[in-house]
Amino acid sequence: VGVSREIRRDPLTGEHVILASERIVERGPHSGPVVQAADCPFCPGHEAHTRPTIAAVERDGRWVARAFANKWPMLMVEDALGAAQHGPHEQISGPGAHEVVVEAPEHTPLHTLPVDRTADALALAVTRIRDLRNDRRLAVLQWFRNQGTGAGASQPHPHAQIVGLPFVPERTRGIVDRCRAWAHTHDRALLGAIVEAERRDTRRMLTDEPDLVAFCAYAPRHPFEVWFVPTRDGGRFSALQTPEIDVLAAMIHRVTRAMIAVHGDVPLTTVALDGPEHEAPIGWHVRLAPRLLVRGGLEEASGVSVHSVFPERAAEWLRGAMGARV
Ligand SMILES: [Zn+2]
Repeated sequence: VGVSREIRRDPLTGEHVILASERIVERGPHSGPVVQAADCPFCPGHEAHTRPTIAAVERDGRWVARAFANKWPMLMVEDALGAAQHGPHEQISGPGAHEVVVEAPEHTPLHTLPVDRTADALALAVTRIRDLRNDRRLAVLQWFRNQGTGAGASQPHPHAQIVGLPFVPERTRGIVDRCRAWAHTHDRALLGAIVEAERRDTRRMLTDEPDLVAFCAYAPRHPFEVWFVPTRDGGRFSALQTPEIDVLAAMIHRVTRAMIAVHGDVPLTTVALDGPEHEAPIGWHVRLAPRLLVRGGLEEASGVSVHSVFPERAAEWLRGAMGARV
């Protein structure tokens, strides 16, 4: 079976789809039983079962976080950039990148390990994103983590992924447009205005520190969706440095533990949202949400989410689990 990769675009919604045939051939969407540590390609000693290490963080002579190319990439750096229009259909053959960041040597969920693991893993991811940024064909560098098979993770070993896209997705373009429009009218960053509003109305706030705040989103797409937003305007996720990374890691670790305390062992998705790498920065933020819902017809048809959890109430639950007062 030949391998083919294509990016296509829905002519009506403008949304992109990445088609990568080998991923389907190699493993189905619902792969079999959970991988045990003895068979786990991400465990120490099994490095030869993955692509070669690109970068790693080492402590006491062993790696604690390790980055390498995905064995079943959605996109590859080697592919050439091109676009073709076939009547209403737009096809992009593009270079991309798809890396895995194994976030700990331990074969156990990241939130059960010391917070240093989260910090080292995040630092390695940011280093990789900064390196990939040198390839100017990659418009958007997306960091994300799926925890638990229900969230799409194919491996129980804690890991995050970085995907470099040669196009700007519709959702990203919408975020950029709204940030620019707000900045134009209000002469300040939209994310900064959001932080200010959440600090004023403390009902959704989970933790408020000088450089970073975490709160339940005002209009959450998912129940219990939490945003982590820096208090300084206009930075880039790819430009994060050590002290900020440590603060973000500690906050993600703490909120994840609270999420698991409230919901039990639910699948979680954590994503960093930022604008295109080679456009003026709009500021970044991270979103973390448990995957409690299967998207239904209204969501599918319109993009409109419907659920029953007011974020003001979700924040009370999470603050309780964090032992936090705001
Ligand atoms: Zn493992």
